[in-house]
Amino acid sequence: MADKDQAGHGSAAGNQASRLAVIAIGSNIGDTLSYVRGAVAAIAALPGISVQKVSSLYQTEPAHVKDQDVFTNAVMTVLVDDSVSALELLHRLQAIETDFHRVRHEHWGPRTLDLDIIDIAGEISDTEELRIPHPYALLRDFVVSPLLEIEPDYVLADGKPVSHEAVEYGFVISVNDFGSNG
Ligand code: ADP
Ligand code: MG
Repeated sequence: MADKDQAGHGSAAGNQASRLAVIAIGSNIGDTLSYVRGAVAAIAALPGISVQKVSSLYQTEPAHVKDQDVFTNAVMTVLVDDSVSALELLHRLQAIETDFHRVRHEHWGPRTLDLDIIDIAGEISDTEELRIPHPYALLRDFVVSPLLEIEPDYVLADGKPVSHEAVEYGFVISVNDFGSNG
């Protein structure tokens, strides 16, 4: 497996083969801004993964269940070394979710942190364990808005361009810089 120093030199550098992936981060319990920032740091520390871009932090309306607190969401792009399969990436993200849930699991329930793979360039998966492109990505403003912020012309692996056109729920309430507490 590539170590982290090598991971930054993806296919763009012509050095080590990798592909771009889009990860969506969400939290609506506790210190959501810290959880989202902590998740970005944890993902950045994964071997074979190199962070490309991270969106602002978006406060968004809870989807479906209206009596929940607002969410903090962000989207990031990473280069994933070809030695790391899509399922391995998913399992690593799940391990990060578990780490965060452990912090306050009993009291705060399962939504401390949700990490979804939205897309991996050139890869389609339609199993229960991993569906990519994420089937609801284009319906969710909390995915579409931050993704378009960092990749305005992004096209999913199934050829669908990302746009606001099909958005149905999870609308953005406000946007903060990644580093600000406002
Ligand atoms: P939510 O649908 O709200 O994200 P969960 O995070 O609890 O709910 O769902 C986790 C389940 O979804 C896991 O069993 C995982 O294997 C599956 N799954 C399928 N496709 C994906 C994907 N693209 N990203 C993350 N999890 C996925
Ligand atoms: Mg999830």
